[in-house]
Amino acid sequence: MWKWGKLELGWGFAALIVLALLGGAGPALPPVLLAAACHELGHLSALWLAGARVEFHCDQTGSMMFRLGGVEPGAETKKIALTFDDGPHPRYTEELLDGLAERDVKATFFLLGQNIEGREEIIERMAREGHLIGNHTYYHVDITRLSQREACREILDTSEKITAITGQPVEYIRPPFGNWDKELECEVMMLPIFWSVDTLDWTTKNEDQIVQKVVTKIEENDIILMHDSYDSTVKAALRIVDLLQAEGYEFVTADELILE
Ligand SMILES: [Zn+2]
Repeated sequence: MWKWGKLELGWGFAALIVLALLGGAGPALPPVLLAAACHELGHLSALWLAGARVEFHCDQTGSMMFRLGGVEPGAETKKIALTFDDGPHPRYTEELLDGLAERDVKATFFLLGQNIEGREEIIERMAREGHLIGNHTYYHVDITRLSQREACREILDTSEKITAITGQPVEYIRPPFGNWDKELECEVMMLPIFWSVDTLDWTTKNEDQIVQKVVTKIEENDIILMHDSYDSTVKAALRIVDLLQAEGYEFVTADELILE
């Protein structure tokens, strides 16, 4: 992970570095020598400084450019998460997984219990390819309108089905309609994951509008809500990935953003 920075301090800074490298104070060097020194420094491909790898080079104005490497990978990238509710869909989810795999992007899928049977292979693939799988209740219900017993049944039955396929516990839930009962205590603790950008993809089914809405509003750490049940959503999601990867965004699973 490389990040470019620019030092505007010019020759004075170059002189300080040269003097420091020479190991002591000395008379100020004439500009011609400084220019040469700066270019010499530019040829030093890497220096180790305070634990970070630093590369220098000079530009025409005499400013020195430097770049830092050796920092923890991903520490300075802008992270965002794509989340897909209501699936898996027998056709569009696989198309989406193909596109995400080509782009090496991890996403989050909140599954409906009622959509799992017969689509086990898709869910197995999600897990194998590093996507996060969460719970979206069994029948897409408003948890807050049910008794505690019914609500827990909705959640536990769905988690059980997912775990039977992936072998992994389900820790996260996207409550339908965003309605979550904080007091709800089932046999296992579930962490709710909401969203910050609602694409409204299920109402518009318009690829261009979905892309526009996301790329014009996106900010670091956003969690984007979509539904992998539509052709338009799959196409829009992959376009969003291409556009935002080019802007330096990294797509991560939603748990990474809520746990930071
Ligand atoms: Zn939903």
